[in-house]
Amino acid sequence: MSKKKPRPTPVPAEGLSQLIDAHTHLASCRDADADIISRAHDAGVERLVTVGDGLAEAEKALAAAHEFDNVFAACAIHPTKAGELDAQTRARLSEMAADPHCVAIGETGLDTYWIHHEPETTAPLEVQEEALRWHAELAAKVGKTLMIHNREADEELMRILGDCAEPPTVMLHCFSSPLKVAKQALERGFVLSFAGNVTFKRNEEMRRAAALAPAGQVLIETDAPYMTPEPFRGARNEPSLIGHTYRCVAEARGQAVEDLAAEVQETFGRVFGV
Ligand SMILES: [Zn+2]
Ligand SMILES: [Zn+2]
Repeated sequence: MSKKKPRPTPVPAEGLSQLIDAHTHLASCRDADADIISRAHDAGVERLVTVGDGLAEAEKALAAAHEFDNVFAACAIHPTKAGELDAQTRARLSEMAADPHCVAIGETGLDTYWIHHEPETTAPLEVQEEALRWHAELAAKVGKTLMIHNREADEELMRILGDCAEPPTVMLHCFSSPLKVAKQALERGFVLSFAGNVTFKRNEEMRRAAALAPAGQVLIETDAPYMTPEPFRGARNEPSLIGHTYRCVAEARGQAVEDLAAEVQETFGRVFGV
């Protein structure tokens, strides 16, 4: 017999407004963009950045940003797909980066998790590194934020970010690294973006990182359809559920959630130039 308890249907946190979602994947969510955006709006989410992680998804992200006033795009090739960054893709990404609806270059970065677990499904580290350096150069050239994905690659990532082209802002999306890395990143002026995993019981260290970050260096994101916050961990995520993450981060920072929302709103505007 299965001991699995039926999962509760996820519902948004109540009574919140002026929220943003700094990193989501509309194209990977099950429903139509318009439905997801309208549910997010009802839950107090005013603006969001949707991310493409391959060229086709980046095209969709940019199209969504053109279609909806409160949606902005981030375009890049995800580190696990870095092998797809051929000359043609670079040319098209360079065009997309110049589009005013594209507000960040990302997600790019390093991911060693899949190299260790299923190397045939990902790109080798040296290919990821070259792609990251290329994206950083592009971000610096167009003067937009570099949006970083990092999975189990803290040391290499901090080294490369220290000597690659310097974009105006570096945002570490789904920040999940140890406190030591949070301190280094904050000292370098990077912006830490917290996703639903900050609400997981065992992730006390992430909440400490969230508590440590000064105003202006904190963003909140869903990374939907992944990383669903508690109390709905394991369900499918979408931007309307971001309020739970706001509440958790506000509590970790000893701050009223309204104050955090105002702060994050301002940071969103600065980081993405909107
Ligand atoms: Zn990512
Ligand atoms: Zn993502």
